[in-house]
Amino acid sequence: MARYTDSVCRLCRREGEKLFLKGERCFKDKCAIERRGYAPGQHGQRRRMKQSEYSLQLREKQKVRRIYGILEKQFRGYFRRAERMRGVTGENLLSLLERRLDNIVFRLSFAGSRAEARQLVRHGHVRVNGRKVNIPSFLVTQGDEITLREKSKKHPRVVDNFAAADRRGVPEWLELAKKEMSGTVRTLPQREHLTLDVQEQLIVELYSR
Ligand code: SF4
Repeated sequence: MARYTDSVCRLCRREGEKLFLKGERCFKDKCAIERRGYAPGQHGQRRRMKQSEYSLQLREKQKVRRIYGILEKQFRGYFRRAERMRGVTGENLLSLLERRLDNIVFRLSFAGSRAEARQLVRHGHVRVNGRKVNIPSFLVTQGDEITLREKSKKHPRVVDNFAAADRRGVPEWLELAKKEMSGTVRTLPQREHLTLDVQEQLIVELYSR
């Protein structure tokens, strides 16, 4: 399956803000935004012109797409699905993205970043309701229980990541049983549960052009 393999810090620099794509490194002064807080490339340090409406919409869409590590075609698929759902399209879109299994593994602090979470899922470490699921885009639903294979719970990377669970916290729509290292979807995520600093309406406007 196609995926982005270039430097992810470039993506943050392009968006001009931290997207937290690299786990712990994002909180240290090694973060590329701290060191070179301008856009990547030859013209990155040029003075920025006033952004057009289209540019604002495009940047917002790219930002969300990059946060969740999704390529354009699949992202557009989520948007079409969100449009067909009841309710506000932008909010539906974010809810669908949050329900992805790789995002849940990240939110439960089993992984330090969504990219790492994706790898855990792909490599068969994750169980949903006791069954192996190795599809990162698998959408969880209310009541699902997400945990790791017993052996994987002792993996040094997982142990390190999980040690930060208290500091990172868990969204209120999920419930984490720390002792068992297992999470349950209490309710489907609503917009008010998500602390993402995004204006999803801009994405709706972009795709409605
Ligand atoms: Fe973005 Fe993290 Fe890289 Fe900083 S370290 S630029 S927040 S991915």
